[in-house]
Amino acid sequence: MNKFSIIITGVVLLFAVLTSCQENEHGTVDLTMPGDVEKPVEAQYTYNHPSAMFNQADFDRVKAMLDDGTAPQAVKDEFQNLKNSTFAAPGYVHTPQTKIVRGDATGTGFPGENYGYAMRDAAAAYQKALLWKLSGDAQYAEGSIKIMNDWAATCTEIASNDANHMLAAGCQGYTFANAAEIMQTYDGWNANDLATVKSWLVRVFASKNKDFLTNHQGTNNCALHYWSNWDLVNMCSYLAIGILTENDDMVNYIVNYFHNGVGNGCIKNMIQGTFADPLNTGVFISQNQESGRDQGHASMSVAVAANLCQMAYTLYQNNQSVSKLDFFAANDNAIMKMGEYTALFNLRNGNDNANATGSWLITATKMPFNEYKYCIGCSCRDQNHGATHTSVADDAGRGSVRPGWEILYNHYAKVKGLSSGFHYSKQISDKIRPEGGSGDNRYGPNSGAFDQLGWGTLMMYRP
Ligand SMILES: [Zn+2]
Repeated sequence: MNKFSIIITGVVLLFAVLTSCQENEHGTVDLTMPGDVEKPVEAQYTYNHPSAMFNQADFDRVKAMLDDGTAPQAVKDEFQNLKNSTFAAPGYVHTPQTKIVRGDATGTGFPGENYGYAMRDAAAAYQKALLWKLSGDAQYAEGSIKIMNDWAATCTEIASNDANHMLAAGCQGYTFANAAEIMQTYDGWNANDLATVKSWLVRVFASKNKDFLTNHQGTNNCALHYWSNWDLVNMCSYLAIGILTENDDMVNYIVNYFHNGVGNGCIKNMIQGTFADPLNTGVFISQNQESGRDQGHASMSVAVAANLCQMAYTLYQNNQSVSKLDFFAANDNAIMKMGEYTALFNLRNGNDNANATGSWLITATKMPFNEYKYCIGCSCRDQNHGATHTSVADDAGRGSVRPGWEILYNHYAKVKGLSSGFHYSKQISDKIRPEGGSGDNRYGPNSGAFDQLGWGTLMMYRP
């Protein structure tokens, strides 16, 4: 090496050290040096319960405007929908099971899946908890804690002969945990009963969540085998139970996983490319890991990610020194852009969403898309299940809209007060408001209605 090349090499190395990321014609190139690994977050947290989906200030804000009649009509309407929900009704009958079975029931001792009981009862516990907070009516509080006490006394396991029980551990885990997180602010919950519910959630749900996120069902699968939703619901559950039980290690695990985890719930894997909006609104749109799979799952990914970000942000209110807890802000508001992509592709012209017949806002061919190789040349033992996605999936599920958009729109536009960037999440929120909640008529009785907590217009909407 001559003197000249040594100088050039030195300059290049110095440049690489000074800049960890550089933009060129191929996009942003990560120039992080080996050994320059981000330090994991090992924070201690302050927990002002409730501190998962919503805090006391959120409940005070909504209750005050409902009480004095100043709430926007859509908020009043969704509150009425919640009061009318069959799950919130005083006569609702809950049905705890010894085992929650989701997936192949072989070997579980049950003739088939029964997770619907947990799905409906967890939603009922959550809806009654919301209603108690917003009405002050102790009948709802007693109903909510009775459901959880009885489940904790009965259920010992989540099981199946395949991976699907992990979805129940995630979806129902974070629904029960959010109900318990709200209800632990109720004086009438016997301390021993509350402790029993907490240890039940840790033992039966959180242990599965952690196992899934760490191992992804063992050595037969690569870490990216399970689509983003599998990670996301388990992340929601583990975070919610961590907050409920004031477990700093659990919260830190999710903070680190969200930013640098191995699976598709990590933001680096969940987002597969960022583009300027081809309709020239000036917003940026980000492809979701499931955008080429189908729109029902891409929409679920956005909705569950919104729930996850909202929980982390609530905790962030009392822990602002831990900037990585603001998942919404991560990677230059990447979650907002991911919402924009999915909203844009699932919106129609016209005024309604679910039953709309108008033309789509955009054609599939106009949607920018980075080729996505799912389990191609990966370390999965089965090498025959991979797929290469070359365009956004224009499938029958296109136009499927889940509750969750109010979280994204109101967070970025109203809580953060950004002036732009949320063009399509605003449009989709405006169309479907009030967005409804888990298990009401709008989203039907199927499991998709219970994957996310819902009731975003009631709790988030700011005119
Ligand atoms: Zn794989």
